[in-house]
This record gives sequence, structure tokens and C-alpha cells, in this order.
Amino acid sequence: MRLEDKVALITGAAGGIGRETSLLFAAEGARVVAVDVNDEGCQETVDQVTAAGGQAIAVHADVSRADDCEQMVVAAESEFGALHILFNNAGIMDHDDGDASSTSEEVWDRTMAINLKGVFLGCKFGIEALKRAGGGSVINTASFVALMGAATPQLAYTASKGGVLAMTRELAVIHARENIRVNALCPGPLQTELLMKYLDTEEKRQRRLVHIPMGRFGKAEEIAQTVLFLAADESS
Ligand code: NAD
Repeated sequence: MRLEDKVALITGAAGGIGRETSLLFAAEGARVVAVDVNDEGCQETVDQVTAAGGQAIAVHADVSRADDCEQMVVAAESEFGALHILFNNAGIMDHDDGDASSTSEEVWDRTMAINLKGVFLGCKFGIEALKRAGGGSVINTASFVALMGAATPQLAYTASKGGVLAMTRELAVIHARENIRVNALCPGPLQTELLMKYLDTEEKRQRRLVHIPMGRFGKAEEIAQTVLFLAADESS
């Protein structure tokens, strides 16, 4: 019960990393606010948490919209009394994201709005709630591509994750004396819907695995263990 008495808000909770983290956090005692634009998937996550004996609510929010982000934090505080853990995890990888020549402005803007501005807006409203709770932990999902680039072109996605990483470093410094830890997660390629839909041929999948010596995609539940470490009080 490493998260006993904690309230955690998780965006992108309808599947992948967000769902696995919701399940693990709830099993560790947290009350979970599961947020997504995919209401059906989000409710399924809540149902799985509840069936396993945990507590969670589903909240519809588009993380690229300020009003929605404000409301998801209000929902956490009004339902569970406080917010201690903010996991800004929602993200997209647009199928038409490509290299500098092929990526349209529309794809660029949509990717930035969700992947980068979405994390900013989560922090904008969530960090104030963490302060009201006396401190807590923020985890922002970036990606290994923020550090290395990708072997298959996805320029908007990679740039957005670079922004998440840079923003996280600054937030960590700014809030360090307020009992708020801010970390970024940089997962390698995972076998989730987001990546498998994008790498839609075996050739593309094999190309992506050049980054991975073991030659296999990771699993969302493996990443959830790292998120737990970052969320729990005993982590640095
Ligand atoms: P996923 O597609 O299963 O999960 C992403 C979730 O975000 C979905 O449930 C989706 O509905 C939700 N979402 C999309 N737009 C949203 C919006 N505007 N507002 C609220 N929710 C929204 O994929 P995943 O792999 O679990 O992705 C989770 C995070 O991990 C993403 O930020 C992704 O970029 C990042 N990531 C994934 C990989 C990978 O290989 N899969 C690697 C590194 C980082």
C-alpha cells in the first residue's frame, strides 16, 4: 500500500500506460481520477479498478482545453478531498506525422496542443492543487525520442516530447522547495495502441526496434512500475 491515502489524477487513462497505472495505483491504495476523451475506455478502466477492490472515478477531459483541465482538478478535489499525484500521460501520435517536408501544420498544431500544451495545462491547474495538499508528485510522460530522435520520422511527436522534457526539468527546479517533485518518464517503444497503430507494417515495427537491443516492444505494465516509484513518497 505505497500510495495509501493518496489521490492520483491520471490522464490518458482509457488504455495503455494510463490504464495499467490506474490499476497499479489503486492496488497500492490510491484513489484514482481517470481522465480521457475516450469515455468508454475510461469507464472500462474504472470498472476494472473497482472490480479489483479499488476506488476510481472517470472524468471526461480534453487535455488541450484549459476549461477541461481546470474541471478535472476540481473533480479530484471535490470527489476525494485533495490531489497528491498528477500523471500527465495523455498523448497522440498522428498517423500523418512525418519528416519536415511531409508533416502538415495541422498535424504539428494538433500534436503540440495535446502532447505539450496538455502537459502545461495539467500542471497549470494541478500544481496549485498539489500545493493545497501540502506537496506531491508530478509525472509527465515524454519519450525516449526526446533524447535520441526516432528511426521512423515523426517530427511533431518528437518535438512535443522534447518540450515535455525541457518543461519538466524547469518545473522540477521551480517547485523543489515546495515539497513537489516533478519527473519526466521517457519510455522506449511499447506495445500499446498508440504505437502499434502508427507502425502499421512489420517493416516499420522492425525499423523501430533498431533502438532496442533486446529486440522486443515493452509493455505498459512495466512502465506503470516506474510511475509508481516516481509517485510514491520514498522516491527522490
Ligand atoms: P494509448 O493510445 O493507449 O494511450 C493514450 C491515451 O491518451 C488514450 O486513451 C487517448 O484516448 C488519450 N488521449 C488522446 N488525446 C487526448 C486528449 N486530448 N485528452 C485526453 N486524453 C487524450 O497509448 P500509450 O502508449 O499508453 O500512451 C501514453 C503516453 O505514453 C503518451 O503520452 C505517449 O506519447 C507516451 N509514450 C508512448 C510510447 C509507446 O511506445 N507507446 C513510448 C513513449 C511514450
